[in-house]
Amino acid sequence: MSGLVQLGGALPVVAERPVPESGPMHDGFGRRIEYLRISVTDKCNLRCVYCMPEEGLPWLRRDQLLSYEEIAEVVRVMAGMGLSRVRITGGEPLVRRDLPTLVRKIRAVDGIADVALSTNAVLLGDLADELRAAGVDRLNVSLDSLRPERIDAIARRAGSAEAIFRGLDAAERAGFAPIKINCVVMRGRNDDEVADFAAVTRERPWHVRFIEVMPTGDNLDVSRDEFVSADEMLESVARVGALEPVAGPPGNGPARYFAFPGARGTVGVITPMSHNYCGTCNRMRLTADGQLRPCLFGSIQTNLRDPLRRGDPIEPLVRQTLRIKPERHWLVQGSDEGSGGLAALSQVGG
Ligand code: SAM
Ligand code: SF4
Repeated sequence: MSGLVQLGGALPVVAERPVPESGPMHDGFGRRIEYLRISVTDKCNLRCVYCMPEEGLPWLRRDQLLSYEEIAEVVRVMAGMGLSRVRITGGEPLVRRDLPTLVRKIRAVDGIADVALSTNAVLLGDLADELRAAGVDRLNVSLDSLRPERIDAIARRAGSAEAIFRGLDAAERAGFAPIKINCVVMRGRNDDEVADFAAVTRERPWHVRFIEVMPTGDNLDVSRDEFVSADEMLESVARVGALEPVAGPPGNGPARYFAFPGARGTVGVITPMSHNYCGTCNRMRLTADGQLRPCLFGSIQTNLRDPLRRGDPIEPLVRQTLRIKPERHWLVQGSDEGSGGLAALSQVGG
């Protein structure tokens, strides 16, 4: 083992092997990095109880945000280093004006084979066709309940359920398939709906992924008191029918997938807390203000925005970030210890 790096209060990072100076991106643990999640805004039109405080957060100023041209430049540089897949996220990406323009710029980059989008779907009703035409290949939609009054309560915004269902219908009509549904499961709020969600996959080609809530600075009460493990979620589903392990839809990330025999969709679990999957991590993150983060959690990040604006080369900074990518996250149930000062996932693009 070599290369102990400790940055700004972060936990030590012990890289096991040297990071290649050229060619495809690998980190110090030999993991191939080919996927970038890009946050285009820290703002959101919802206030999900597990994500953002009701009063919102101190938002970034307009001039702190990367422009679409700057984001596309980061993608161009990283595509030259083997990046092939991109996801646009936030905050809520659809609140940023003219998102299809960014999609077109990213699609035009040589080497980018797949562009996906994570959204709460509130604004998707009017945008689904344009996003599809611009080149979004795949959609992930957050949906934490099937019951309108619960959706509004979890999102802390009246009327959101109606807009979300309209957005989902528009996405299906626009030809997005499969659609992945992300559902953060919380005890006492929606854990009794796990089986109902699973039942929907018998009829609709939805890939429902149940997510364990992760602790951040602003959700410690929810992540401590309402945590439900994936094993418990799968037990609830098994009570309504036997599930078989399946390969899952394309763009497979850390989820493990299952299906009822003959069902049109699948059920997946994402287990950041109970079963760590960092060993197969293939991604980095770009925040809305141009910080390249090698891990969702921790305080390690590299400022790409200022060098970009000075016209300095950023490839060496990307290699440096690969060198300090930690082996795993160090989240602790009910504590913000491992989240590296992060108030909410919306700040870094969950
Ligand atoms: N606004 C978009 C959305 O909700 O899909 C994109 C950003 S959101 C931060 C991305 C994903 O992170 C969503 O699926 C959301 O449910 C999930 N998420 C946010 N905070 C979380 C937490 N503390 N634990 C687990 N998942 C979380
Ligand atoms: Fe907004 Fe997505 Fe966070 Fe909900 S999970 S508050 S929709 S960023």
